[in-house]
Amino acid sequence: MLLSTREIRSIDESSSASDGMKIVDIRATPVTVPIDAPLRHANGCHWGRFVRTVIEIETNNGLVGLGEMGGGGEAGVAAFNGLKPYLLGRDPAHLEELRFLIANPTASLYNPRTQVLAAIEFACLDLVGQHWNVSVSEILGGRLRDRVPFASYLFYQYPNADGSREVRTVEQLVAEARRLKEEHGFTTHKLKAGVFPPEYELECYRALSEVLLDDRLRLDPNGAWSTEQSIRIGQQIEDLNNDYLEDPVFGMAGMRRTRQKVRVPLATNTVVVGFEQLATNVLHPAVDVILLDTTFWGGLRACVKAAGVCETFQLGVAVHSSGELGIQLATMLHLGAVIPNLTFAADAHYHHLSDDVIQGGLMRYHGGAIDVPRGPGLGVKIDRERLAKYHDLFLRLGPYPYDQDPLRPGWTPLIPNQRWADPLDDRVPELRWPSAPPAGRPAPVGGAATGAATDE
Ligand code: MG
Repeated sequence: MLLSTREIRSIDESSSASDGMKIVDIRATPVTVPIDAPLRHANGCHWGRFVRTVIEIETNNGLVGLGEMGGGGEAGVAAFNGLKPYLLGRDPAHLEELRFLIANPTASLYNPRTQVLAAIEFACLDLVGQHWNVSVSEILGGRLRDRVPFASYLFYQYPNADGSREVRTVEQLVAEARRLKEEHGFTTHKLKAGVFPPEYELECYRALSEVLLDDRLRLDPNGAWSTEQSIRIGQQIEDLNNDYLEDPVFGMAGMRRTRQKVRVPLATNTVVVGFEQLATNVLHPAVDVILLDTTFWGGLRACVKAAGVCETFQLGVAVHSSGELGIQLATMLHLGAVIPNLTFAADAHYHHLSDDVIQGGLMRYHGGAIDVPRGPGLGVKIDRERLAKYHDLFLRLGPYPYDQDPLRPGWTPLIPNQRWADPLDDRVPELRWPSAPPAGRPAPVGGAATGAATDE
C-alpha cells in the first residue's frame, strides 16, 4: 500500500532516534596544509600543499559534527553555504533523506553535489555517533578489524626550494620507497605514474620490485596511456608482485580490452565511481578491483553499499585516497574497519602531510597500519589552533591549480597523453600562488608557515 504525503511527513517528524536533534548551523573553513614536496601526477601537481574544506555541522544540543572535502586545490565554501536553507532544522540521523534532498540523482544533473553530500554525511554520522555514544563503524555494522593497513604512496616529486625531496630518477625513487618503508612499516607500495614516458616509468617500477623483494606493488598512471600502451606495459609487469594495475587507460572499453590481454588484475577509481557504472561492470566486466572513495562515491554509506555489491559478484575492493586530512582519513578507517571483503592495503596521501587539523596532530602508522579511532562518532576532534593556523595559510597562499604543472605553464595533457614530462629536466619550480592573494591579505613572505615545505 502506498503511503500518503501526510503519512510520509509524520514518519519524518516522529521516527528518529535522535530525540529531536536538529541542525542549527553549518560552517565551512578552507585550509592549506603543507606537504613534504610538490607531488607530480598525470594531470598536473599538488603544489607543495593540500587545500581542503573543513565542515562543521552544529546541532541544537550543542554537538559539532566534522566533515571534509577536497576540490582540486580550490575551496568549497560557497557550495556549503548555499545548502544552509536545505539543512537547517533537519535531523542529522535521517541520512537517506539527506541523500535525496542534496543529491537526488536526476536533480543533481543540474547541480552536481556528490562530493558535497559526502562531506555532509561524514558530519551527520559523526553527530549521530556522538549522540548515541558509539563510533561510526559501530553504526555501519560493527568493526571487523581495529587497524587498517595502508600502502606507501610514491610520487615523482619536484624538489622543494632548498633542493630537498626530489624524486625523478630511479635512484631517488628507490631511496624514497626505502625511507617510507623504514619510517612507517609499509609492505605495499603504490607508484603514481603517468608523468614521464611509459617506458621510463616501467624501468622505475621494475627497479622498485628489485629492492622491495616480497612487498606488494601497484601502479597507477591515471588513465594516461593508450590501450595499446596499457597492454604493452601491462604484459611487462606480469611477473612482478602486483596487487593490480590501476587505470592504465581511460574508459571501460579500453580497460576491457587491456584486461583481455594482460594477466594482472585491473583496478579503477575513475570509471567505476557510482552504482550505474558498477552495474555495467558487473554485466560486462572491465575492472577487477573497485577502489572505494568515501568522497567520490558520495559518502561512507554508499561505499559500504558498493562493497556489498562487490562481495555479491566477487569483485575486489580497496580504499581509495583522493587526498585527506584526519577527518577524511577517519572515514577511510571506519570504512576499512567494516567491509569484510577488504583484502588489499588502503591508499592514503596522509604520510605526505606535515601536520593535521585534528587534536593530537597526525595519526601515526604502526607497521604500515593506522588504528581505527575508538571514540564516539568519527572519533576525531578539531584542533581550533591548527584550524586557524592553516586557514590563515589558505588566505595567504590562495588556491592552486591541481591540473597544472608549475614548470609547464599552459600545458594540457591529452587522453591518451603524449605530452610527457622530461625525466632529465632537473629544474626547481618556483611555486608562486597562481592567482592574486585575496583582497586585503598580505602576500606570502618566505617559506610556508610551518617550515615543512616551501610554496613560494
Ligand atoms: Mg587512481
